[in-house]
Amino acid sequence: MFKALVLNQEEKKTIATIEQLDESQLPEGDVLIDVDYSSLNYKDGLAITGKGKIARHFPMVPGIDLTGTVLESADERYQAGDKVVLTGWGVGEGHWGGMSERARLKADWLVPLPQGIDGKQSMMIGTAGITAMLCVQALVDAGVKPEAGEILVTGASGGVGSVAVTLLSQLGYTVAAVTGRASENGELLKALGASRIVERSELEEPARPLEKQLWAGAVDTVGSKVLAKVLAQIDYDGAVAACGLAGGFDLPTTVMPFILRNVKLLGIDSVMCPYEKRQKAWQRLAELLPASYFEQACREVNLEQVIECADAITNGQITGRVVIKL
Ligand code: NDP
Repeated sequence: MFKALVLNQEEKKTIATIEQLDESQLPEGDVLIDVDYSSLNYKDGLAITGKGKIARHFPMVPGIDLTGTVLESADERYQAGDKVVLTGWGVGEGHWGGMSERARLKADWLVPLPQGIDGKQSMMIGTAGITAMLCVQALVDAGVKPEAGEILVTGASGGVGSVAVTLLSQLGYTVAAVTGRASENGELLKALGASRIVERSELEEPARPLEKQLWAGAVDTVGSKVLAKVLAQIDYDGAVAACGLAGGFDLPTTVMPFILRNVKLLGIDSVMCPYEKRQKAWQRLAELLPASYFEQACREVNLEQVIECADAITNGQITGRVVIKL
């Protein structure tokens, strides 16, 4: 028997309880994992509280990120004792996720835990971290060089934004961090490597089709009018890696930045990212993130404390990462 956080639905309300399960209840998969840590993401908060339609069926075990040790594997790529990490693939949404002492998963979804980081650190990175790495890599691949000028990161104090600031600064880029919480998080963002803070309100004014060229590139986690403003301010031949919709899923822009300034808009998805790219991204994260990143605010909780934290994360009351010890 093992313990898991299980979501059920009664009269359209999501009920989260800790349950004792046995392995025969786990969903199908070719690798059985003794889960060491999961993490609490905004998406998990929406699933657990029922504030967002994240769970595709019930009962569901939430947890979009997990790390642990292989107990049994029917796939030759993994043996008992291997340390693995998982993000994405709809785990915690359509397939039982990480908030459980045991998980049964598809081998195709797993990545060996990269050299240089431990399980807890991998959960401090999680989906947010790998998404940030994919954004930064996309800018590098698009030819945006550190000497080209400043890189703007929007939603900078969020999970994705804060890792993007750190990674870009480690790679020698000059980073301007956009935040709506400058007084609260400005110092932290500078400690992570931002050279200056830009107030979010400056980017919320409606964009003209083309504005003064200010940024060599950008990582955008916000979407909507902020992304439209960023596109209008990107330098000739610059690029924007867009991964998020914290400010909305619309994009009130024109074709002008693309056809007159050769600006590239690069879409980033980490959920279905193929193995090779995913594995490379984990390795780069392990190489690039400094020890100071792992010393930032991180709260470790147990399964019993998750329900309360889930409510807090959906109310914007959590700073830093919440890592769950199983
Ligand atoms: P967080 O909630 O941690 O951070 C989002 C940040 O955006 C906030 O911290 C805030 O930063 C800013 N923000 C919040 N609301 C608004 C608003 N209304 N207008 C402008 N800025 C706002 O989320 P994550 O960093 O985990 O994720 C960021 C986005 O990326 C989300 O939309 C998420 O869904 C998406 N995502 C996409 C993935 C993919 O594969 N494409 C994977 C993971 C996440 P500040 O206070 O500094 O302004």
